[in-house]
Amino acid sequence: MEQTGQFFTTIYGRNLIGEIKAFVHRPYLVVTMEDLWPKFEPFFDQGMAQAYFVNTLDAEDLAREIERMPACNSVVGLGGGQALDVAKLVAWNRRLPLFQIPTAMTVNAAFGHRGAVRTGGKVRYIGYVVPEAVYIDFEVIQSAPKLLNRSGVCDILCYHTAHADWKIALDRGKTEPKWPYDQRLVDEAKTVLDGVMARLDDIRDVNEEGIRTLMNAHRWGGAAYHNAGWNPCHIEGVEHFFFYALESLTGKHFIHGQPVCLGIYIGSALQENKAEEMLAAIHHVGVDIRPEAMGVTWEDVAEALRILPRYVREAGLWYTVADDRVADGDFIARVKKRVIEVYGGWK
Ligand SMILES: [Zn+2]
Repeated sequence: MEQTGQFFTTIYGRNLIGEIKAFVHRPYLVVTMEDLWPKFEPFFDQGMAQAYFVNTLDAEDLAREIERMPACNSVVGLGGGQALDVAKLVAWNRRLPLFQIPTAMTVNAAFGHRGAVRTGGKVRYIGYVVPEAVYIDFEVIQSAPKLLNRSGVCDILCYHTAHADWKIALDRGKTEPKWPYDQRLVDEAKTVLDGVMARLDDIRDVNEEGIRTLMNAHRWGGAAYHNAGWNPCHIEGVEHFFFYALESLTGKHFIHGQPVCLGIYIGSALQENKAEEMLAAIHHVGVDIRPEAMGVTWEDVAEALRILPRYVREAGLWYTVADDRVADGDFIARVKKRVIEVYGGWK
């Protein structure tokens, strides 16, 4: 297959953060999170403009913050999704070179062209930036909490539910006119998904093979939206919509992979699409999808599923199993029973 899209230059190795100060354009701005800074500050030097700690993802607040940031000649993004997204927006706004350093495998933010912000509580993707390089330091990734690293698998396993959703929309004549069903895109994503499913042990252990496997998959997935002509149907579906509904309902801050993985199990159960295999994979890789493990309750999950059809319509999201099947009380009871059987009850 002829690949015409673009993937970001991605470098694996050691002491990659330590080397940054030797080559980025000075003075440089490090965009990071306050809690990460004490750990990484020693790697940077006097040639730095400043460290900026992300404190908002609100689009308007961010625009004001960017105005106030000090003059700099390059931007270094250092952290999980939020720091990397804000670093993109600074670099885009000021047209500066960007160097990205993910500190965990939580999401694919390092590999996408746009940054996620919130406007009125809704997620919106803005900007367009291609980093000079994404640096993946094995020791840095391995020093992050294992749950964070493992949870990143959600953004690949979700292709499973996304593909069934797109097929359901096709069968019902409900695909978006701009996104007709495309088997070629589905097959390409399925190859990436199969590669990750074959390496769940390595991803769970966060060893070098696991890091390369999951981050290369993220590298594909982060660029996939752009590379498919701004089409997300082969990479995202009901599992993310469930997460958005749960987030808007509870106002909680989640580790992305926990509610999304729960959404993958629930979504594939609604689709009658190898749900037990997905539950086994999620459990095997070490992502805890019990609601209590993410600070919510089964009642919240049931309520999120109840509001889901309305939520997706109001949010203008595309057709998925959420529009096609009702998650009634019996369905939710079965999901709960299976999750407890696999993970044990919450203590
Ligand atoms: Zn995601």
